[in-house]
Amino acid sequence: MAETTPRSVRTHRLGSPIAAIALVVFYAALLMLPLVLAATTGERETEPFLKMLGMSFALVAMVILALQVMLAARIKAICEHYGLDMLLRFHRSMAVLAVVLLVAHPILLALSSGSWRLITGLQQSWPIWFGKIALLLLLIVAVTSLWRRQLLNFEAWHKVHGLAPAILLLGFVHSWVVGDDLEGTPMRVLWLVLLGASLVVYSLHMFVWPALRRSKLWNVASVKQETHNVWTLEFEPPEGVEPLHYAPGQFSFLRLYRGDERHDGEEHHFTISSSPLQARTHICTIKNSGDFTSTIGATEPGDTATIQGPYGRFSYTVHAPSSKYLFIAGGIGITPLMGMLRHMRDSEADVDVTLLYANDTQADIVFREELDEIAESDAPRLKVVHVLAKEDWDGPIGHVNRTHIAQATAEELPDYAIYVCGPPAMMRRVIRTVLRMGAREDRLYSERFWL
Ligand SMILES: Cc1cc2nc3c(=O)[nH]c(=O)nc-3n(C[C@H](O)[C@H](O)[C@H](O)COP(=O)(O)OP(=O)(O)OC[C@H]3O[C@@H](n4cnc5c(N)ncnc54)[C@H](O)[C@@H]3O)c2cc1C
Repeated sequence: MAETTPRSVRTHRLGSPIAAIALVVFYAALLMLPLVLAATTGERETEPFLKMLGMSFALVAMVILALQVMLAARIKAICEHYGLDMLLRFHRSMAVLAVVLLVAHPILLALSSGSWRLITGLQQSWPIWFGKIALLLLLIVAVTSLWRRQLLNFEAWHKVHGLAPAILLLGFVHSWVVGDDLEGTPMRVLWLVLLGASLVVYSLHMFVWPALRRSKLWNVASVKQETHNVWTLEFEPPEGVEPLHYAPGQFSFLRLYRGDERHDGEEHHFTISSSPLQARTHICTIKNSGDFTSTIGATEPGDTATIQGPYGRFSYTVHAPSSKYLFIAGGIGITPLMGMLRHMRDSEADVDVTLLYANDTQADIVFREELDEIAESDAPRLKVVHVLAKEDWDGPIGHVNRTHIAQATAEELPDYAIYVCGPPAMMRRVIRTVLRMGAREDRLYSERFWL
């Protein structure tokens, strides 16, 4: 049967593969640029190999560190091609590479000179100390990031990450003063541009844009309790401000201001669970799952908020259209899928959707009535299958497994575009299972709710 392409499915163009490739090439070229400049404008050929290698490692690592800021600053023109999630994973991998290169840098220089005094000696000039302190701070940031869950809570980790500008400044000053490669003008210009650009982007991201957002606060229009531990907040943009133009399933960063000293201004990701076809509506549905979210039920109409977004690529309108969708949600992971289902309902999408929705008990099911209402309509043709892990009932029991998936889907899995969102263990298990059942990897999309 020929695939029907619903009218609504083509509405959001987010990113382009050509731009995504071009940005990767540009990034790689920037990493190589100092090496090319050093080779063409310096006097490297007279240096011992180990020293040259150590200096090259430091040059590349400093460029990586300067670009780390751009990767994490949520710049839409970059994010939309990859998704923030993927960018942050890349940011993390590049940070590890920079740390390895910078740890190797003094070791290679020491090996080359035949003396460990550079590393062990205390009688050093101030620029060498700048380099040592930068490396020490970088190691603190790296260790607290790699083992964040074991070492710190999210907010404390975020504060430690605030050492980034100090690391950059110390590292750049160190290399500017003692780096043999930085004597030529082209390299100095490159260094100034990189440092300047990263500090400007950092200041915009951390101070300027948040302050501008705070000058135009959104209002909490309504608060609705959905289940014993889930609340829905509806937001209204301030006078003269356009609501966000988002694709269904995307998320935004929310900061609430409720006269709660402990949590006011704390930033969290939440999916926009409303449909973008509902004019001026911006809804987040939030589960009590920790320190901040345990206070969400205390939010009142009239409280204020800043909203930054939209971000993410977990949307059926962003990826290749299909006539058959399999949505698999675990707990609060229903929110992006609900955003997509509401959009399908509002656009009368001519598609078949099977939703496997996993919860512990019936009391945990969010949006149950609305899902039933959508299931009664013809567009989309929705089939909802609830799977309960901790309640003995007459429906499917346990964790979502091969049997549940096979029974719920009418066709072979390669025919479906599959969207998965839920707790980490469930997502890993479900993704493994659907791939074993023949799902196409290029039609399988997932959203992680944890960092
Ligand atoms: C893309 C995305 C969309 C999400 N959508 C929803 C949604 O629609 N509904 C919903 O209920 N939850 C959603 N979440 C999860 C939500 O962001 C976290 O549950 C919430 O931030 C936890 O905060 P807490 O202080 O209550 O929990 P804590 O107990 O303090 O933290 C629990 C875990 O949540 C993460 N976390 C804590 N603080 C932050 C923070 N400031 N920013 C990011 N992560 C943090 C950390 O990994 C932490 O280990 C989403 C997360 C992501 C990444």
